[in-house]
Amino acid sequence: MIDAHTHLLSLGQSLLKLNLKGVATEQEAIARVKQKAAAAANEWILGWGWDEGEWASHYPNNAALSAASPQNPVYLAGLHGFAAWANKRALDIAGITKETKDPENGKILRDEKTGEPTGILLNRAQELVAKHIPPMTVAQAKKALALGAEECVKNGLTSIHEAQVTQLMLDAYRELIREKRMPLRLYAMLDGADNPLVEEWLKRGPEIDAQHQLTIRAFKLFADGALGSRGAALLEPYNDAPQTKGVVTTPEAAVYDLTRRSLQRGFQVCTHAIGDAANRMVLDAYERALRESSEARDARLRIEHAQVLSPQDIPRFAKLGIIASMQPVHCTSDMPWAEKRLGPERIKGAYAWRSVLATGAHVPFSSDFPGETLNPFYGIYAAITRQDPSGNPPGGWHPEQKVSLDDALRGYTVEAAYAEFAEKDKGTIENGKLADFTVIDKDITRVTPKEILSITVLKTFVAGKAVYEARPQ
Ligand SMILES: [Zn+2]
Repeated sequence: MIDAHTHLLSLGQSLLKLNLKGVATEQEAIARVKQKAAAAANEWILGWGWDEGEWASHYPNNAALSAASPQNPVYLAGLHGFAAWANKRALDIAGITKETKDPENGKILRDEKTGEPTGILLNRAQELVAKHIPPMTVAQAKKALALGAEECVKNGLTSIHEAQVTQLMLDAYRELIREKRMPLRLYAMLDGADNPLVEEWLKRGPEIDAQHQLTIRAFKLFADGALGSRGAALLEPYNDAPQTKGVVTTPEAAVYDLTRRSLQRGFQVCTHAIGDAANRMVLDAYERALRESSEARDARLRIEHAQVLSPQDIPRFAKLGIIASMQPVHCTSDMPWAEKRLGPERIKGAYAWRSVLATGAHVPFSSDFPGETLNPFYGIYAAITRQDPSGNPPGGWHPEQKVSLDDALRGYTVEAAYAEFAEKDKGTIENGKLADFTVIDKDITRVTPKEILSITVLKTFVAGKAVYEARPQ
């Protein structure tokens, strides 16, 4: 099982942070902070997951939070990213006082009587404190990555494609591998927005690991934003916001330029594209770069997400040999509101796995964790049902785009291996391959879709060695 688009460091960080998801009261949150404050002198205590939507009518102030942690700065991010809750020490470090003005698109909540900041920061005001949180060290990154990797093998994954890799992450991976603490195989997409990193790697060329422990031969670019926040670049205005078409974040010329240079040096390019305009732009840039690079054989350029496609662009993936790297769970998470954004016509080209597969294109599947669950069986279930885990909507959402179980399994195995040029060594269990495989408690080909959700991983093997074994019940 290979997850072709992941954020392992973020997963690990979310596991390291104080998890306040589901915490009902201010007191409960503070009790958890207090435990942490006892452990780490003067270090920042970072948490996330209190529900700023649910708490909006009764936001806490920071008096009790500051009393619980007078020495450690505390920064607790909200579940949806719209608010943060900081203690007095954190506000002091950021220099936020009664006199501090609200930033553009942000608000510092203040006590009605005294005018003192309460510690609740809305929208862009969060950055006033967040920017003072010290940058991660290699040691912290290693700790997070090791934790994240443990979660992956527990969920049956043997390889992942990490979708935005920095120098710090490379350093941390290499140390973990040297210390034999990285059970997963890693395929790295270097951060294509980091110019020094890009130039360095274009100069030195790809690092293709014959052992498949860590391969560095791809760059990640972002062509646009996300559909939910209306940042995805569309050809026509949003159905529910006619004044906007979203935003292109990397212009076509820049996508073309990096692709052209990457093809000359033997790198793959993987570009995030959600909206139909972003997808068309990237297809155009890739097409031109491919046409001008006669030396490029087997380029396997990728579009990450390929979420909303104009019907005329769907056949271009297969025709140009471009990989559509798609996420089944994005569909079932977005289905409650996606049609509002796109309207009844455009929605037909959204999350259109079946249409893309029908043209003969390669479609690896992935989770994009930690935004979504990393459990690949949830992805397989979403791919074959287009339903949420409780079975809604009946029959599936736009069911004509459901894929077969076989195609779903291929998406998480051999197609994902193809997307990293490794289908000769992994993606199937056969003689001469790497012996990466997962033992599960049910025959996935003989259970109902619903039962796929409760499949349990018993053992995970990488290179024939068990890297995870479930404890006997
Ligand atoms: Zn991603």
